[in-house]
Amino acid sequence: MPSYAFFHNQFVPLAEAKINIMTHALHYGTAVFEGIRGNWNSQQQQIYIFRLKEHYQRLEDGSHLLRMNLPHSVDEMCRITVELVRKCGFKEDIYIRPLAYKSSEALGVRLHNLDNDFLVFAIPWGRYLDMDACRCGISSWRRPADNVIPHSAKSNGLYINDACNKSEAMDKGFDEGIMLSPDGHVSEGSGENIFLVKDGKLVTPPVSNSILVGITRDTAIKLAKNELGMETIERPIDPAELYTADECFLTGTAAHITPIAEIDNRKIGNGRVGEISGRLQQLYFEVIKGNNPRYIDWCTPAYKK
Ligand code: PMP
Repeated sequence: MPSYAFFHNQFVPLAEAKINIMTHALHYGTAVFEGIRGNWNSQQQQIYIFRLKEHYQRLEDGSHLLRMNLPHSVDEMCRITVELVRKCGFKEDIYIRPLAYKSSEALGVRLHNLDNDFLVFAIPWGRYLDMDACRCGISSWRRPADNVIPHSAKSNGLYINDACNKSEAMDKGFDEGIMLSPDGHVSEGSGENIFLVKDGKLVTPPVSNSILVGITRDTAIKLAKNELGMETIERPIDPAELYTADECFLTGTAAHITPIAEIDNRKIGNGRVGEISGRLQQLYFEVIKGNNPRYIDWCTPAYKK
């Protein structure tokens, strides 16, 4: 099934959406991106796009940091995305990739005096961490401090850090690497935030420990509170606390909620999916498919009824 892109202000077949090799963002990573999921509900023959507006709000905030004036408002980008998904017509889980980038065909390291553009495309994409519970290692790569590369923006250049981490983890036989903040506290994975469960409480690193403020992280915090009556404590976490946690799990748009079985070859809990991680994961899967009426406002239907 052909995919489409919204590129240079129009819908075109994905295969025809090409950029010039002099494009600024290609050379200097001067762009911000998003990852948004569209979740296929086969009973309703519907794709529900999850927390669409929040993703575009984060894109807009990040673009502000990179001194870009986006050609479209958040609401317009939401509308363009729904139209794109409708045009693609997929009947399976999809992944939507918006990009706001310095589009000038010009060299020279800077943020100013450059044109910006916005593009978005959608592709079918199933599970990212394709296992019941993943195996992680603490990375030798650290997250950058906010005054090295701001981590609150999902900026392309920053992802060199994540790519180094992910490949190191896989080379060592793990599924994902957990990076520490510059001051040695637990930060996050290459595309996921991290939580631990200890003595019936959820704990996750605070924004000040170099994390991307994940939308799935926020979803997990809200589901834990509303559905399980569990508060989440945001505080710095020492790496060794992970080894002795009752449960750990990762959250991310691509990874959903993925329980962690082992960290650095130490079993977390009994090394299987923990009770709270499992319950949150089940709740989350129903919510993102539009099957839970309490959270239907988070789900934008792409197809007309
Ligand atoms: N941290 C990093 C580095 C990420 O790339 C992602 C994925 N966007 C996340 C955390 C999780 O964010 P979200 O739940 O918004 O996808």
